[in-house]
Amino acid sequence: MPGPVQLADLIRDGKLVTGLCIDCFRERDIDAATIPLPGDTPVPEIGKRMRCMSCGGRRIDTRPELYPGGILAHRARRS
Ligand SMILES: [Zn+2]
Repeated sequence: MPGPVQLADLIRDGKLVTGLCIDCFRERDIDAATIPLPGDTPVPEIGKRMRCMSCGGRRIDTRPELYPGGILAHRARRS
């Protein structure tokens, strides 16, 4: 049974991490290759090491890329 998606999986696939701040709901895309954590870090754990760029909050929900090209590109296409 496969475990949770890990950082190395996203780097291998060239995918983004989608981060959502629980406090201010700001979304951002993070290039997985730029995240300075061990490759075996489960993606949901990444958010615990991050800080929101908008409000400085530390409750960041991270998950594997939800849309090709990232959430911001997805929003731009729909607007
Ligand atoms: Zn925030």
